[in-house]
Amino acid sequence: MLIDGQLVEATGGGTLESVNPATEEVVGAVPEATADDVDRAVRAAEKAGPAWRDRTWTQRAAVLRQYAQVLEDNLEELAHLDAIDSGNPITSMRADVQSAVGEIRYFAGIAGETKGRTIPSGPDALTFTEFVPYPVVARIVPFNHPVKFASAKSAAPLAAGCPVIVKPGEQTSLSALRLGELVKDLFPAGVFNVITGNGATAGAALAGHPRVPRVAFTGSVATGQRVAALGAEQVKHLSLELGGKNPLIVFPDADVATTAKAAVAAMNLARCMGQSCGSASRIFVHEDVSEEFLGALVEAVRKLKVGDPMDDDTDMGPLAFRAHYDKVMGLIASGVEEGAKLLHGGVRPEGLDKGFYVEPTVFAQVDMSMRIAREEIFGPVMSVLTWRDYEDMLEQVNSLDVGLTGNIWTNDISLALRTARRIHSGYISVNGTGKRPIGSPFGGFKQSGIGKESALDELLSYGREQSVTVTLR
Ligand code: NAD
Repeated sequence: MLIDGQLVEATGGGTLESVNPATEEVVGAVPEATADDVDRAVRAAEKAGPAWRDRTWTQRAAVLRQYAQVLEDNLEELAHLDAIDSGNPITSMRADVQSAVGEIRYFAGIAGETKGRTIPSGPDALTFTEFVPYPVVARIVPFNHPVKFASAKSAAPLAAGCPVIVKPGEQTSLSALRLGELVKDLFPAGVFNVITGNGATAGAALAGHPRVPRVAFTGSVATGQRVAALGAEQVKHLSLELGGKNPLIVFPDADVATTAKAAVAAMNLARCMGQSCGSASRIFVHEDVSEEFLGALVEAVRKLKVGDPMDDDTDMGPLAFRAHYDKVMGLIASGVEEGAKLLHGGVRPEGLDKGFYVEPTVFAQVDMSMRIAREEIFGPVMSVLTWRDYEDMLEQVNSLDVGLTGNIWTNDISLALRTARRIHSGYISVNGTGKRPIGSPFGGFKQSGIGKESALDELLSYGREQSVTVTLR
């Protein structure tokens, strides 16, 4: 791990196995941080904070640009590690590194926005505000985009002047550890720390540490609730980027073939096998076009090549780890039991006897009482619901406690915009595939989270505004 500028093992030497999900072979050992290790990282970050904060924003931005360069220079190795460790296809992991590079450069560019304001206070006073960075930031991230999250999600706090402690998902920590090695001498000791280990121990010790006032968490709703409970006791500033069960609405005027292909893209099947928070896993298709749509969807899904994540031609690799594979297969079985019609997939692909592979799966005749319509599967499973009445369809769309993203397909722009306003989700794509331009605030409504990321809002969330009034005498 990287703590206080030193590469260290966990106290007591505990490790977790890292397994290649394509071969089921152990490919590495990851330090299992203890509460003492977490405490050491927090103290180091706290010590390093003032000097980092006192650098000018342009000096911090210059270091961040070097950080982005290190990632770009090591793109192939980092993508390789993530493909081996997570099962995500190598092409997609290259794109992840490139996306992290873009995000780090973005935050370097806007770091100067951590400026204050002046407030009108009459002829005899001057009132202004200053941005005061948090002394320590915990950045806890999930398993699905390993190096992208470990690197890009530390950019905003670093740009804002905060030292950071990054905790990657325990199943896919190899690239974060390599990242720590690569940037060890780039940041002053203690400014950038990486700890690994179990969520329930290392993660909870970090989220609940009394000297960590700012916790930025990305992960499941259930863990987010635990992190929020830990934070409540100490009135921490929390941001939570949690799960979703995202709708894609197909109106009868949409071009069916285009929409079916876009639905596959919006599901992130070819990027990470549907293991994406923003995946459009509930498709609401109008009954007039449902048959044609389902035919086109199955055809599009059939074209996906499932196989070795290290192969440039592979669209879909295996799921990231055994327990997750079991969970996804269990939910597929529940769909069949509850009466949904399995149109494609639902099984291990032929010829792939090892590895946590699942064929891309399409269910039709789904309704909102079924688990596959209500629970985040976080795997390659699409549930198609048919609708006739607009108001009834919207009620179903909004009937869950989560609201991360939403997708609308129609050529009627007024209908699209009116519908967007009715969907209780934080990010809506109209006639798109869920791609987001950098700088557009991302974050959920309802239990999908609190706060916005990848935008100016995120940068500003890493500090507090202090107001000063000076009386002029
Ligand atoms: P998870 O909640 O199991 O784990 C996320 C992180 O939290 C890991 O680093 C884990 O070690 C840590 N953790 C676990 N228990 C903890 C505890 N008690 N205290 C503190 N930390 C703890 O999530 P996951 O399975 O790794 O990732 C999948 C989930 O993440 C999905 O629900 C997905 O939708 C969500 N996600 C959300 C976004 C977003 O931007 N909204 C992005 C990616 C993933």
